[in-house]
Amino acid sequence: MKTACKFRLYPTKQQEAQLDLTLEICRHLYNSALADRKNAYEVEGISRTYEDQAAMLTVEKKDGNFRGVFSQVLQDALKRLDKSFKAFFRRVKAGREPGYPRFKGQGWYKSFTYPQVGFKLECSKLTLSKIGSIRIFKHREIKGKIKTCTIKKNKLGCWYAILVTEINDVPQIEPKKAIGVDVGLKSMVALSTGETVQYPRYYILAEQKLAVAQRNLSRKKKGSSNRQKAKLKVARLHQKIQNHRDEFLHQISRKLVDSADIIVFENLNILGMLKNRHLAKHIQDHAWGKLIQFTQSKAAKAGKVVELVVARYTSQKCSQCGIIVPKTLAVRVHHCPNCGLEMDRDVNASLNIRTLGLRGRACGDARALDL
Ligand SMILES: [Zn+2]
Repeated sequence: MKTACKFRLYPTKQQEAQLDLTLEICRHLYNSALADRKNAYEVEGISRTYEDQAAMLTVEKKDGNFRGVFSQVLQDALKRLDKSFKAFFRRVKAGREPGYPRFKGQGWYKSFTYPQVGFKLECSKLTLSKIGSIRIFKHREIKGKIKTCTIKKNKLGCWYAILVTEINDVPQIEPKKAIGVDVGLKSMVALSTGETVQYPRYYILAEQKLAVAQRNLSRKKKGSSNRQKAKLKVARLHQKIQNHRDEFLHQISRKLVDSADIIVFENLNILGMLKNRHLAKHIQDHAWGKLIQFTQSKAAKAGKVVELVVARYTSQKCSQCGIIVPKTLAVRVHHCPNCGLEMDRDVNASLNIRTLGLRGRACGDARALDL
């Protein structure tokens, strides 16, 4: 199983210049390779492959271009382009909006990768080929063999190393306890154990600050230094909110994995929901997808399972007797006229989700049924 660790880097001024230069060279390579594919197709009707372009890169390198950047890092930039083309063709084939790969403007190419070798991690130093030994803050131990090393710059200009390691798969434990999780609009999550977790207040406060900063930014004159400052402020607040949110989601996912062996989520169609403007903010805020992702990775390391169920009527159905009790979003309490069950609507939904997850395990495709 693959797992990733992200560590902060503290490059010197000189190293930072080298890192920036590497990003720029990769960006130019990406853009020129994209232009080459476009031309080859439009003018000669040829579809370029990654192999074609990698061979061309070797020739260009002999002329002394791209000096100062590790060769596999350059190849990885071409691989990224290849990936975006493959995704493009997949979308075309599937009849979806294709979205042709785009040229990357300044500041839009944010990371580069050492896909196999060319980097070395020792105590508090990360040595990168062609760049040097950069101070790294390793806030935790790395398990397993490091496979790839990606260097990334965020909007605030901070640098990070993302190390992907391969560790042995943890054998699945015999599941004994299951928990259902529902994303609510009022509370962050409702659990089938009856618990609900609220969104922290500091997050709402930070959001308000962000709104003010954004308004402020929109009033500044383009190209002015005040605008630059305001922009940085917005970026800083965004980063802060994201950090808080991730920390919070890590706590919840840890709790879920510690408390059950099977964790059942509703497989929300996030893309579909983002189109619904009223719900969009909540979905983004609550970072539903991220919570599932964090839980999946923690579960895999503990030999536990995350089930995703296609759930319909989970909030309408009574988790005790199964009849449909229609309610609008404003109705917060599930009250069943048939069996008399009364509980938080989201907790009722999470119980239904749990049931669906367990049923899905028992009989394969039954999870897609309306139960
Ligand atoms: Zn009932």
